[in-house]
Amino acid sequence: MPEGKIIKALSGFYYVLDGEEVIQCRGRGVFRKNKVTPLVGDHVVYQAENKTDGYVLEVKQRKNELVRPPIANVDQAILVFSAVEPDFSPALLDRFLVLIEDNEIDPIIVVSKIDLVPQEKRAQLDEYVSDYRKLGYPVMITSSVTEAGIEELLPFVDGKTSVFAGQSGVGKSSILNAINPKLDLKTNDISSHLGRGKHTTRHVELIHIGSGLVADTPGFSSLDFIEMEAERLTYCFPEFYELSENCKFRGCLHDKEPRCAVKAAVEAGEVPVYRYEHYKQFLEEIRERKPRY
Ligand code: GDP
Ligand code: ZN
Repeated sequence: MPEGKIIKALSGFYYVLDGEEVIQCRGRGVFRKNKVTPLVGDHVVYQAENKTDGYVLEVKQRKNELVRPPIANVDQAILVFSAVEPDFSPALLDRFLVLIEDNEIDPIIVVSKIDLVPQEKRAQLDEYVSDYRKLGYPVMITSSVTEAGIEELLPFVDGKTSVFAGQSGVGKSSILNAINPKLDLKTNDISSHLGRGKHTTRHVELIHIGSGLVADTPGFSSLDFIEMEAERLTYCFPEFYELSENCKFRGCLHDKEPRCAVKAAVEAGEVPVYRYEHYKQFLEEIRERKPRY
């Protein structure tokens, strides 16, 4: 049986991409019994009736699943943060990073609007960029106006399913347009879709970009930690996770515990203070929602 990937779901039809072809499928069979509702991004087994129509028979196991937008099997999130307008915010970036790490999605950080950065803000920005690169995150510096850094982004989207994330107005649509100016009609679609408010419930669609696919709706519109366990937070700060092996207590939350390797590293200047402060703030938010008994 042929297999493909759902790139659009609309009015009871699933549009399955198989190679270069898109087959319009209805649902039938196994997934109904399993109560699995096929999602955009799902890898499916289908049966073709003819060249253009068919049936989805089976939904393959998902590697992850986002709620907003509803999409499965996301490989990576391209986190767009403008250098200015609005100013680069490590607090917000860390919040996105935690949620992305929690979903086991690879983050790519894009610092946009570099053409607008005044000289006096450059040193601080470079420091943040260097901090995040040290953590192992790819950081691209781009301008959709001068097209700086846009080409470097291409290898990252190739062959992957990506979702863009970041505040409204940081330049997500502009980057997509810069990456693929030949999207012509679709380009307008993307701009208007990406600019929509988070309360809008609309369908999500995967569109071609390079040899990859990208969701036309930005992800992670909800930025709270409502479902996260406090212990999980350490895993979402990669440098803390590594250090935590040397904490005295297993399950150390790096808060009031004695002989904590994370706190020691912060005090020694090996971990930026702001990363620890954000960690503590998120821990606080988790505890407020979920009191530990
Ligand atoms: P989105 O809401 O994240 O999709 O952001 P947009 O792509 O719609 O961009 C928001 C505004 O910032 C628009 O007025 C863009 O023209 C502007 N903008 C986006 N990227 C850049 C950039 O690299 N340089 C400059 N100077 N302006 C940009
Ligand atoms: Zn600790």
